Amino acid sequence: MHAPAGLTEALDLLAGGAAPLGGATDALVERRREARPAPVLVSVAAVTRLRPIERTADGLRIGAAATLAELAEHPVTPRALADAVATIASPQVRNAATVGGNLMQAKRCWFFRNGFDCYKRNGATSPCYAVLGDHRFQHAAVDGHRCQAVTPSDLATVLVALDATVEITGTATRTVPVAGLYTGPGRPSCATASSSRR
Ligand SMILES: Cc1cc2nc3c(=O)[nH]c(=O)nc-3n(C[C@H](O)[C@H](O)[C@H](O)COP(=O)(O)OP(=O)(O)OC[C@H]3O[C@@H](n4cnc5c(N)ncnc54)[C@H](O)[C@@H]3O)c2cc1C
Repeated sequence: MHAPAGLTEALDLLAGGAAPLGGATDALVERRREARPAPVLVSVAAVTRLRPIERTADGLRIGAAATLAELAEHPVTPRALADAVATIASPQVRNAATVGGNLMQAKRCWFFRNGFDCYKRNGATSPCYAVLGDHRFQHAAVDGHRCQAVTPSDLATVLVALDATVEITGTATRTVPVAGLYTGPGRPSCATASSSRR
């Protein structure tokens, strides 16, 4: 695992096929079930350019490597956002978990999360209960096909309501609405260092 302090070094490592790591509260759990996890992890938690939370001319800029605790406690954070972050997980998780990691945490439907031997867990020999199972209470994406689930990120929900955007940095930098990160079954649409802006 690498833990660079510079953004350029982090991006170079990520361009070589490594996976980014924030506070590691979700990624290491998810990694255990991946058939081919990325061979190299790059912790972006110490990348100084991804840490600041600051007011800008057009709103608020939140570094992807800022922790949820830092976001909740920062004086420039709007009350609605701080209140929402304070409901996430526990103080221990919020002290380690980063903004980028929260937005990019893995999606797991109710059936997968609760241990069903489903398609996502077992592969093609098992059914997708979100499609064939009890939709009435658990299936958030009605009429969707298999393995659909909404993101568990409470931060994403609030940032969508606040019309926030995410700056995605890779070989090129682009800005997308927060809702644009989530594209359907499987992984979200980006996996590189990012920061969100409001
Ligand atoms: C007990 C418990 C309760 C929880 N309850 C809630 C809850 O109520 N609400 C809620 O929203 N969440 C909840 N969570 C999830 C928790 O918020 C996430 O685990 C956490 O936010 C992930 O942040 P992290 O920095 O640890 O991410 P990591 O585990 O480091 O990474 C998660 C994913 O994000 C990617 N990633 C990390 N940083 C970046 C980046 N800068 N750019 C691009 N991709 C990146 C990683 O590659 C990985 O795919 C809970 C977790 C636990 C353990």
